[in-house]
Amino acid sequence: MLIDAHVHLDKYGALLGRALQQIAEQQIFTVATAMDLPSYLELQKIGERSELVLPTFGIHPRRAAEYADCLADLSRHIERSPAIGEIGLDLHWVKDATTYPAQRKVLAYFIAAAAEQNKFVNLHTKAGEKEILDLLEKYDVRRAIVHWYSGPMDVLAAMIDFGCYFTIGVEVLYSDYIKEIAKAVPDHLLLTETDNPGALRWLKKNDEVGMPAALNDVVEALAILRLTNPERIESLVHSNFCRLIANDPGLESAHALLSRSNSPQSP
Ligand SMILES: [Zn+2]
Repeated sequence: MLIDAHVHLDKYGALLGRALQQIAEQQIFTVATAMDLPSYLELQKIGERSELVLPTFGIHPRRAAEYADCLADLSRHIERSPAIGEIGLDLHWVKDATTYPAQRKVLAYFIAAAAEQNKFVNLHTKAGEKEILDLLEKYDVRRAIVHWYSGPMDVLAAMIDFGCYFTIGVEVLYSDYIKEIAKAVPDHLLLTETDNPGALRWLKKNDEVGMPAALNDVVEALAILRLTNPERIESLVHSNFCRLIANDPGLESAHALLSRSNSPQSP
């Protein structure tokens, strides 16, 4: 089974039906990350339409300033969510530095909750890579997906040592630096994502809506870069994601679904 470990399904609008159809046809297990509370509430409804969709709650760094002073109100949603994300820091694309303290406050709150509730986290780390690794270490959050990593190679190595998983996405088709990262992630920590529907639009500066099937292009690119075949990449990512969620009491049904799916055999 293919794994899209970071997607914004609530952003598909009129194309949601088509996206869910592709997810079903291609059997893509989908971690649907939230940007904020309305986004999570919408994702919960979408999750009811497909057992392949796992909605998770987080506050994106871009939204952090709106929530920093009412974090306690979010507790019940965090508790209900089977995993945490999207959370993180963005000290690069978010130019308004007055939001950085709020970003840090929100991130620390969610990381502490993930530690206490033993949930995996889905992280946006742009220009906050080392700071985020320090937080994971401080709270001993061992199950972390670092989404679309593009930071320094030395912090990548430290995150690998800590055991973070990494989602490689569509930028691997366009960027030599991301190709280097895609080669550096060890087999046992490799995951895939689309970050769609907006990733392609953001990368190519056009109005292209990225569909879930873009994951196939990522898998093929990874196979070429890592000198193997797409079936082997699919199988590897599937088993990595299964390991990430194994023995998680909140994710038993997802684990069962993944365990009974036909993962292609490794050659
Ligand atoms: Zn995202």
